[in-house]
Amino acid sequence: MTIVHHPDTATLVSYAAGSLDEGFATLVAAHIATCDACRAALREIEDVGGAVLESVEASPMSPASLDRALSLLDDHADAPAERTKPRPKDTRPGVPGPLARLLKGGLDDIVWKKVAPGVSKHVLPVSKTARSTLTLLRIAPGTKIPDHGHGGMELTLVLEGSYRDVFGRFGPGDIADLDEHAEHQPVVDSPEACICLVATEAPTRFKSFFGRLLQPIVGI
Ligand SMILES: [Zn+2]
Repeated sequence: MTIVHHPDTATLVSYAAGSLDEGFATLVAAHIATCDACRAALREIEDVGGAVLESVEASPMSPASLDRALSLLDDHADAPAERTKPRPKDTRPGVPGPLARLLKGGLDDIVWKKVAPGVSKHVLPVSKTARSTLTLLRIAPGTKIPDHGHGGMELTLVLEGSYRDVFGRFGPGDIADLDEHAEHQPVVDSPEACICLVATEAPTRFKSFFGRLLQPIVGI
């Protein structure tokens, strides 16, 4: 498995700080379990976070030192050594550890529900207080998902197969880290179905009449 697409640095920082909601955190954990580059980046973030905390305790952090801390992270994200590190070949990665507790039987035992031609889904359980949802999608080869924007943050982790969109080709282990402004039209380009895990902000807050009314006003 060669991982090309990683979470944004901002997403990794939120993950390290424990501020990602359950669905997103589970998905990022599943990526990190199979991604050496992100494990290294996470250690770096934790080190910088520790240094920031120490400097905050010693004296208030200046904007310049915050910039320095953030540029350290950017430097790391660009480090070619981490990006080009060869990974062992693995054609069927199965279920990364953090997902295993949600998918006891593995990918082969999932009961799929057809939602559109070529598209089936399986909703994974999250706790009642979660503000995000976790859904597995199985998309048949050649299927084109209609062009769509997003109602909020959305993370996709490919587990099997691959798809292509304006952002590139996404295979097993790759994460698409999209914000609400991103629009894309993925097409499955693998000979087998593409199975991916999608975490989205819980849509319920947009569904109520008052939610829709308030959304443009409060900017959520
Ligand atoms: Zn990664």
